[in-house]
Amino acid sequence: MAVSRALVPGSFDPVTNGHLDIIARAASMFDDVRVVVARNASKTPLFPLEERLVMLGEVCAPFKNVAVETFDGLLVEYALRTGATVIVKGLRAVSDFEYELQMALMNRRLADRVETVFLMTGAEYSYLSSNIVKEIARLGGAVEGLVPKSVEKRLREKLA
Ligand code: ADP
Repeated sequence: MAVSRALVPGSFDPVTNGHLDIIARAASMFDDVRVVVARNASKTPLFPLEERLVMLGEVCAPFKNVAVETFDGLLVEYALRTGATVIVKGLRAVSDFEYELQMALMNRRLADRVETVFLMTGAEYSYLSSNIVKEIARLGGAVEGLVPKSVEKRLREKLA
């Protein structure tokens, strides 16, 4: 039988427990999951790409069928090149929906063999984003329970 391969894309600046929840759900649904970080993202990140990859590598290590990769250019092209047939996205709230619908429909137009699948976040992560975590950490608030321990430590160091 063919291997089911899924991509979980994002900027992961930094990876949060909300991302991890989606990655874990994807890992239990697909044979092979690749967490993919765009090299050419327009946003200026807090954590440089290499550091985001290290953090992702650490937290994804327990999942034997999850790998962390980077890609250049279009996500759907990367999916076609690597034999991935599914893009997994997390949905937090209605506010995510409009943007995600636009992306999913555009990606389908570009490559209709690649299906976007939405997974609902765990309720405890529905308000969680990388941006809000950075904001809290910047202002000296506790981010315990929102991000993995290793990320918590790096955030403290980065913002000290
Ligand atoms: P953000 O949207 O927080 O800046 P990313 O660009 O890294 O983060 O998001 C990558 C993917 O992870 C998107 O599909 C986004 O919807 C999903 N995601 C981010 N945070 C959560 C969360 N708390 N629960 C579920 N999915 C999430």
